Amino acid sequence: MGIGRGSAGTQGFTLGKGERVSAQTYEEDWQIKAACRGPQNAVVFFPPQRFERKHEKIEREALAKSICRSCAVRRDCLDYALTIREPHGIWGGLNESERKQVLLQREAS
Ligand code: SF4
Repeated sequence: MGIGRGSAGTQGFTLGKGERVSAQTYEEDWQIKAACRGPQNAVVFFPPQRFERKHEKIEREALAKSICRSCAVRRDCLDYALTIREPHGIWGGLNESERKQVLLQREAS
């Protein structure tokens, strides 16, 4: 899948959203409904392997977030990323720094 969160029950799978590997080892039901599903979206949800300039990151993330805004499973996606403390990419419309802020706010309350 573009978001490419892998195949059920496998480890070391290729992620469609770049080539990052998360702690995920199975496909969640909500991922089937992901708006980012499909290889065409793979490059916008994770940074490239090469150096990425700040303006490139801003543009890439804006595109990814625009896809997230229309996603029916945005809440599930964000909850998942927060739960596993996913360190990379755009999940649920938030980048890694924004998710970290959410976690810090939760811990403070
Ligand atoms: S919220 Fe964004 S990253 Fe999450 S499944 Fe939907 S489109 Fe993909």
